[in-house]
Amino acid sequence: MAETSHADIAAYLLGVLDQPDHVAFETHLMECERCQDELLELRDVPCMLDEVKHAWPSGPKAPAPRSPDDWTPETSGHVSLF
Ligand SMILES: [Zn+2]
Repeated sequence: MAETSHADIAAYLLGVLDQPDHVAFETHLMECERCQDELLELRDVPCMLDEVKHAWPSGPKAPAPRSPDDWTPETSGHVSLF
């Protein structure tokens, strides 16, 4: 039988616990002041992750490679040094 751990709070907040673990942790949470305090501190984390997802709807993307044709002495900024 798996023992419910304080450490499950992060997984619980992220919604990645299996249903039995989720229920077990909620039961633990009802009786555990330490986890209740941590829940208050950590509850903003999923919101932050949501903001990242909204900013990156299709995940991280590499910047499009610049075409060499875009390069000109005027835009390079180096020519004026000489
Ligand atoms: Zn706890």
